[in-house]
Amino acid sequence: VVHFAGVTKNFAGHRALDGFDLTIQAGEFVALLGPSGSGKTTALRVLAGLEGADAGSISINGTDVSALPTNKRDMGMVFQSYSLFPHLTAGENVEFGLRMRRVGAGERRSRAADALTLVGLSAHADRFAHQLSGGQQQRVALARALVTEPRVLLLDEPLSALDAKVRVQLRDEIRRIQTELGITTLFVTHDQDEALAVADRVAVMQNGRIEQVGTPEELYTRPASPFIADFVGLSN
Ligand code: ATP
Repeated sequence: VVHFAGVTKNFAGHRALDGFDLTIQAGEFVALLGPSGSGKTTALRVLAGLEGADAGSISINGTDVSALPTNKRDMGMVFQSYSLFPHLTAGENVEFGLRMRRVGAGERRSRAADALTLVGLSAHADRFAHQLSGGQQQRVALARALVTEPRVLLLDEPLSALDAKVRVQLRDEIRRIQTELGITTLFVTHDQDEALAVADRVAVMQNGRIEQVGTPEELYTRPASPFIADFVGLSN
């Protein structure tokens, strides 16, 4: 269980998070949805420990992690832009996180192979990033995020650089893998259709705080405000 309580984050006088509260249940897939600048990426980065919060707390399974560095928070991350190391193969990219943890070579190779199989890329282990499509690169990034068996998976607009058809395929694939692993997941997106299609619950943000959290059906049938109704595309 991931719990944000009253998290505030300022950047040079601008309040990016303003009393941000959100609970993600164990094994749940939550989409964080909101317009550009609403604070989605900041919330994810504060959870990951890539930014410190100015106020409030973040806990995982009841333990406050606010003071822990990123590498002690046990999270896997996938970002929008392809973040593979270009001089390493897909397999070496996936192994990278294990190398950091001093996992031995044999075990590294077999766990990387399993992770690449999970994302459907076992045949591409020896290719370099530039020999892979954008969708395949994001699959490698997902395998790299999962190979360390993190407690929480953080996805920051992982589909937004892909074309529409690949976007839908990979979206469904991510959800399938998430369900198979049962991993607690926070998925940041500005795309309403994507959020409603894929998440157990959708948390809609505006101005650094949560406006409403609910299942896609709840947001659809009982929007809490005109902003929600409008933003999830239900106005008129
Ligand atoms: P987008 O969908 O455009 O990525 P977002 O909802 O993820 O938007 P954030 O990236 O979290 O929003 O940004 C929230 C606010 O904080 C924005 O006004 C942004 O300009 C500001 N901000 C974010 N990071 C920084 C930073 N490192 N320095 C200064 N301002 C920042």
